[in-house]
Amino acid sequence: MEQLAIFGGKPVRETPIYYGRQCIEDDDVAAVAETLKSDSITCGPKIDELEKLLCKVTGAKYAVAVCNGTAALHLAALAAGFQEGDEVIVSSITFAASANCVLYCGAKPVFADIDPETYNIDPDSVQPLITPRTRGIVAVDFTGQSVRHEELRIICKEHNLTLIEDAAHAIGTKYNGQPIGSIADMTCFSFHPVKTVTGGEGGAITTNDENLYRRLMRARTHGITRIRSEMAHPTDARWYNEQVELGYNYRMTDFQAALLISQLHKLPKFSARRKEIVKKYDAAFAGIPEIVVQKEIPQSDTTRHLYILRLNLEKMTCDRRQFFDALYAENICPQVHYLPVYWHSYYENLGYGKGICPNAEKYYNEVMSIPLYYSLTDEDVEDVVRAVKKVVAYYRKTC
Ligand SMILES: *Cc1c(COP(=O)(O)O)cnc(C)c1O
Repeated sequence: MEQLAIFGGKPVRETPIYYGRQCIEDDDVAAVAETLKSDSITCGPKIDELEKLLCKVTGAKYAVAVCNGTAALHLAALAAGFQEGDEVIVSSITFAASANCVLYCGAKPVFADIDPETYNIDPDSVQPLITPRTRGIVAVDFTGQSVRHEELRIICKEHNLTLIEDAAHAIGTKYNGQPIGSIADMTCFSFHPVKTVTGGEGGAITTNDENLYRRLMRARTHGITRIRSEMAHPTDARWYNEQVELGYNYRMTDFQAALLISQLHKLPKFSARRKEIVKKYDAAFAGIPEIVVQKEIPQSDTTRHLYILRLNLEKMTCDRRQFFDALYAENICPQVHYLPVYWHSYYENLGYGKGICPNAEKYYNEVMSIPLYYSLTDEDVEDVVRAVKKVVAYYRKTC
């Protein structure tokens, strides 16, 4: 058997590849440069143009561009009215920001377990967590796959909850043919470089509710308004604006918006290539009993942000750590998404114990994300598959 690189053998690749990377082309650079030389580099026309384009891409009535995905989640949680004494149900396998936004408002995140096959929030595990204090759900389209909207909508309606969809992974995904961004009460996007389209940093909230839209717009800029109907002391003085509540400066610059506009026009090709790569991986791993392939619900037409390699550890002589390190030595550099949020020491110190979400905890011990991004070549994909097969063969249980 071929010796693993971690034990001195020859690695599958000479140069490392990582789990994600941005694709910036000459026209993206040109769009940024042009905007930098224009009259407005912030609060200018590119923001309006981006928001209109986001409405078009998502089918939402309103879009609010902000400086990053975390700011989007914070504003959505504020606009939902979450406050001290409230409980908000959050997916347990996600980036910490999905739950932090609840804490920012003084409310309490309550963690729901995942579906063991799709890794998304399990509506059946949401139901028993609802109390008279529950005000909302933050549901994450993990890896880009849509959450089960039908079931979540029924729960939200019955208990009068606000649904915030954390779609940081999911731009381009559709649920029953409807684009993500026009389904939940508010949908939050991130445009960090590792995500499917990027603005360097960037985020947005989409909604169909005018009331929520007005609140989001005010909170983005300090709680200051120029709309007379929103003022306590309206005047017709041209210079007058009024702070009516406590807000933030969560604005995006126009040159980031220009980059995003350019990137969003490429979403169809980015999405198609990601789907192609996912198909190749799924086909390569389907026949390997040591590997578990992520299940998709038929309602989700997914633009995948992450490809999760899940190990069937019962059939192997290694643990996740050993597998991860062996793959890394082959110059295929994975990452783990994610630690169950309540395992972070900050959350532990807030009193969240282990064992709250058994499916999430089991999942965490068995996974790593392997390279998935637009500019990955077919040869790169073959290298990844070869490396995975090599490591599996080495650690396969023989009996
Ligand atoms: C990236 C990400 C965020 C945060 O987005 P930023 O733009 O980095 O602030 C939030 N939730 C999830 C699930 C993410 O992947």
